[in-house]
Amino acid sequence: MVRQRYTPLPLPHVTIADSFWAPRRAVNRERTIPHIYRQLLATGRIDAFRPDWSPDAETRRRGPWGGSTVMFWDSDVAKWIEAASYSLAMHPDPQFDGLLDEVIALIAQAQHADGYLNTWFTTIDPQDRWKNLRDWHELYCAGHLIEAAVAHYEATGKRTLLDVLCRYADHISSMFGPEPGQKRGYCGHPEIELALVKLAHATGERRYMELSRYFVDERGRQPHYFDEEARVRGDDPATFWARSYEYNQSHLPVREQPEVVGHAVRAVYLYSAMADLSAEYGDAGLLDACKRLWTHLTTKRTYVMGGIGASRSNEGFTSDYDLPNESAYAETCAAIGLIFWAHRMLQLDLDRRYTDMLELALYNAVLSGVSLDGEAFFYDNPLASTGTHHRQAWFNCPCCPPNLARLLASLVAYIYAQSETDAVVHLYIQGAGQFQIDGQRVTLRQETNYPWDSSVVLHVELERPTSFGLRLRLPGWCAAPQVRVNGAMVDLTAASEHGYLRIEREWQDGDQVALVLPMPVERVYAHPAVVANAGQVALRRGPFVYCLEQVDHVVPLDRIALPETADLTPRFAPDLLGGMVVLGGSGVALDDAGWDGVLYRRDRPTTQPCAITAIPYYAWDHREPGSMRVWIRSQT
Ligand SMILES: [Zn+2]
Repeated sequence: MVRQRYTPLPLPHVTIADSFWAPRRAVNRERTIPHIYRQLLATGRIDAFRPDWSPDAETRRRGPWGGSTVMFWDSDVAKWIEAASYSLAMHPDPQFDGLLDEVIALIAQAQHADGYLNTWFTTIDPQDRWKNLRDWHELYCAGHLIEAAVAHYEATGKRTLLDVLCRYADHISSMFGPEPGQKRGYCGHPEIELALVKLAHATGERRYMELSRYFVDERGRQPHYFDEEARVRGDDPATFWARSYEYNQSHLPVREQPEVVGHAVRAVYLYSAMADLSAEYGDAGLLDACKRLWTHLTTKRTYVMGGIGASRSNEGFTSDYDLPNESAYAETCAAIGLIFWAHRMLQLDLDRRYTDMLELALYNAVLSGVSLDGEAFFYDNPLASTGTHHRQAWFNCPCCPPNLARLLASLVAYIYAQSETDAVVHLYIQGAGQFQIDGQRVTLRQETNYPWDSSVVLHVELERPTSFGLRLRLPGWCAAPQVRVNGAMVDLTAASEHGYLRIEREWQDGDQVALVLPMPVERVYAHPAVVANAGQVALRRGPFVYCLEQVDHVVPLDRIALPETADLTPRFAPDLLGGMVVLGGSGVALDDAGWDGVLYRRDRPTTQPCAITAIPYYAWDHREPGSMRVWIRSQT
């Protein structure tokens, strides 16, 4: 029997008060969320909910799936509402509150009498409702609106959007299912499944959980729904543009899927819902599938910085160990979805392999997706660049910016968790978490300069002495952690399970737990089957993966090699891009002396010494444009 054992703390019960995330969260609140709103407004996404809105001729001409992204406009607005709501939950702001009310009123009046709500199929293509679940994102948009409604309700206590989305979910529930007259369908882009779990929790209505389970269980069954609906449309299913239902993870029933395949964002949203449902229903089959898929993903198809989905052509997975660097797609949304999935797995199975990946993606593949000023974004996150890849203010398909905004606005949810008897610390971030354990309020206050520094002190604050287990993650990247309780060293091997240390005792107010998580500069090598990284090395320190940028080097980056014996020294550079630890050392550069007029020769190239400076990957592309590399030549 699987049970969800570890629940995140409510947002208002957690604070972040550090020099790394707190400024970024302020930028997210003050710059990114308003920037996204301006873009939504300027592109017509808000007005599309107005009854008198009319699309321009170009939008009409492009039609469904003629390259138009208008059909999932609603999801962009929804993710912005979700981000703004999380922000409001922690930072009351009457102006923000009022703006949300205005947008929500517009959405509410756009709802049809039967509960249906989708701007594309209301204004542009009303005759085609529910006719192409494979491609047209209707349920996907509904899912994002549901997530927005739950976030707004939990932040404000207002049921305005929640009631709208309950009516829509009820409409969807009447349309889809196994009963006669219902469609046995599910969305080509998973999303509504995890959203319905949230709606069930927020409302206490079990029927939404059942609908989620229906969508997940029905996926990939034969006769295949996407074949049948194609025939009803008069299309030949064999002409599906993606060629295989692996693209949307409906090639097999979800429990039977052996490998992560297809579109990466769709995959991790689906797996997130599978993890949720395995907890809700004690469904060991779903949990087994999640674990199998997790292992496959993280041992064969994940970039060193936590990015997933190597290929642009399917925005997703290709084959094992196919991890090209310069053409890496590694969509920001996919890394965010990986965090969603990891977070859900942790609630079922407290194992640091999930947290390690969550943290890796967060500090690297996700954080690179947003500029330091909060108003420019990467959609794809390559691990090497010739200097032409830059963050942009917006995209034709702008899924990533509001996804980043909602993740950063809800970051506090990822730091702690609790069960009935234990308090859990997943991430080390200065601030505090307030737990309720056995009827007692327990506050853990973290004092640390993590992620730059190895020391973390946890202060236990209690109203009266309380017995509970304190579970602390010992990061997988850390080879030699040390933990002391009130100065006394803890034996980590005896008290750790799956990378989490458990200390049970009667805790007193003022107790201190001190962790030292040494973070030396480390070289990382790829599995020999990763052809793209043959003979190369990457650099890592603590949770960060590093890269070289041309602006710090005189010779071209692809000429630089790092000797195995070269020391790299970490140094905090307070004035560089908000302050960061850079790595400095001596490498060698291949010399082109003696190569005039020669393309090949018997003699090996000579080398010259050269200084190497590496910066954290998230920070690249903030200075003079130039090339970038995560993997650099290794000289043996
Ligand atoms: Zn995206």
